[in-house]
Amino acid sequence: MPQKVNPPYLLFDVGGTDIKSALSDDAGNLLGIRRVPTRHGTPDPAAGLIDQLHTLGTDLMAESPLVKPKAVGLLVCGVVDETHGRGVFSANLGWRDAPLRDMASKAFALPVGFGHDVSSAGAAELRFGAGAALGSKVRNAVMMVVGTGIAAALFVDGHPVSSGGYAGELGHAAVPGGLDCPCGAHGCLETIGSAGAIAKRYAHATGRQVNGAREVLEAMNAGDIVATRIWDEAIEALAFSIAQLCSSISPETVIIGGGLAQSGEALLGPLRLALRKKLSYHREPLIVPAQLGQDAGLRGAYLKAVEAKENQP
Ligand SMILES: [Zn+2]
Repeated sequence: MPQKVNPPYLLFDVGGTDIKSALSDDAGNLLGIRRVPTRHGTPDPAAGLIDQLHTLGTDLMAESPLVKPKAVGLLVCGVVDETHGRGVFSANLGWRDAPLRDMASKAFALPVGFGHDVSSAGAAELRFGAGAALGSKVRNAVMMVVGTGIAAALFVDGHPVSSGGYAGELGHAAVPGGLDCPCGAHGCLETIGSAGAIAKRYAHATGRQVNGAREVLEAMNAGDIVATRIWDEAIEALAFSIAQLCSSISPETVIIGGGLAQSGEALLGPLRLALRKKLSYHREPLIVPAQLGQDAGLRGAYLKAVEAKENQP
């Protein structure tokens, strides 16, 4: 890191599998990005997380003696109450109603901007990525992260929709053809429309283990009928879910991110056609790929950190 830079923000994006951390400058350029496995199995999951973040932050700051962060941006997965700074629930990481914002603020002695990982990544896509590429400011949008599961961030009239952290769980809304879901419900979108489901269903139907949805796409391109059926069913399920959104919040843009988005037009082209068939007078959204990739969360954490610095008394 250049010694003249004094990056003012310390950023964390906490997922179930790994924690990404970085410093950033005033403009949101990320410096010294690190990725480490999220520590599991500590007796107090919230305290264990803060402890791990403190170690990571101290290491990052030690890389440059000039670094004196002014604020922290912290994103976590699960159900997140951004208004009150609480991690309400995380199935993966185990906390229940933990005051993570205050705990982090105390650990770093800095203001902390706190948010949900997918919601903030969506805000970053709108500001710096897919939304910025569209030119004019997009006010009604959905970012769908289609990976192992499916999560979404909703924006209506320029505002993120949070509902105490419970909004945007599109992956756990029932769709036709959906299957039993580990969440306890039946028919959830992510049991059929996620990258994880595509790989799993193909392996189950053929007895052939595949390393992700991309291999199913390759099999389909090579003429495999089972792969074609499973891929088509996933697209149909995703289109169903987006069509429901067209009738409820009517996004102008749907940004598709996560592992499945790496299939590019092989996914997006058929998805646009399947959606069009389900709409009549509705406003048809533009379906575009996410652009920030793995860094979307950290860029979202930057937006939260800036907010925290500006709102300081
Ligand atoms: Zn479910």
